[in-house]
Amino acid sequence: MPQQVNRSYSRRRKKSRLPYFAIVLTLALLVITVAIVFMTQCSRSEPEETSSSQTLSSAAADSSSSSSMASSSAASSSSATESSQAPSSSASEAPSSTAPSPSSSKPSSGTITSSPTSAVDGVVPTGAGTGLGYKSSDWRLRIPNIDSPIEDDEIPELSTIESGGSGKFYLDSRAADDFDAMMAAAKKDGMNLYVSSSYRTPAYQKNLFEKRVKAAMANGESRAEAENTVAKETARPGTSDHMLGLAVDFNGVKNAFKDTKEYDWLIEHCAEYGFILRYPEDKVDITKVSYEPWHYRYVGKEHAAVIMEKKICLEEYVQDLG
Ligand SMILES: [Zn+2]
Repeated sequence: MPQQVNRSYSRRRKKSRLPYFAIVLTLALLVITVAIVFMTQCSRSEPEETSSSQTLSSAAADSSSSSSMASSSAASSSSATESSQAPSSSASEAPSSTAPSPSSSKPSSGTITSSPTSAVDGVVPTGAGTGLGYKSSDWRLRIPNIDSPIEDDEIPELSTIESGGSGKFYLDSRAADDFDAMMAAAKKDGMNLYVSSSYRTPAYQKNLFEKRVKAAMANGESRAEAENTVAKETARPGTSDHMLGLAVDFNGVKNAFKDTKEYDWLIEHCAEYGFILRYPEDKVDITKVSYEPWHYRYVGKEHAAVIMEKKICLEEYVQDLG
């Protein structure tokens, strides 16, 4: 009798072990299936992530060097990796100078914190310091000075510009298209604008400053006096907008330019193309530079619209941005 009980017990155990194995087997299969699905997903999404980061990095490389160099740097960065398609297409669709780019020169990377409100789209920003999302470190707003001068090896990516006359002139590639558009519009309106000076190399600026200091010293000024005198009209080496490739001097660099219709036209229209009158007559105490009716500086359309409309200078605008 006890044997029977035992047998029936062991039979019951045998019976109950079968579904147990089935469950374990099913669970194991489930785990394996999940693992396979997970691995497949991972291996599929991995290249996607890589390629998008490649696109991003090459876009950054593109905007940082813009124009012809952009394609080559994008190409070289992409040749190191696999996806040459994405970077090269992003290079060809390179944003024009109106698009905010992370910047080329040292102090600028990742400066724009929100998408810009474009004056071109008819939405004129209400003013500086009103939460436009711009930072004063935006490459277009850089004010080189003695404390943060342009280094000798800091050469922007350059493009030739429409000079309105003879001679070859260059600007930072990101400003060149807007400048050419401004020249075309001025010409269409019957203006006779021509470029007298644009991009200057560090060596050129150094020589120019030195030559003028020597001339002032020849007039009896000490070296320090001469430097201060000259600096009111010619930027010290490393501190010129011209070295940034963002400044243009028009029509012979003459004070009389302020009495011409070309000057009036520029004051009315320069902001539409991203340019400002850099050294206004009533801002000398802030800019520390004499009134220069001939000197225009690229800052981008959205900044220029505010600066020209409010009749403020770049220093005031940047200070407001913080
Ligand atoms: Zn100038």
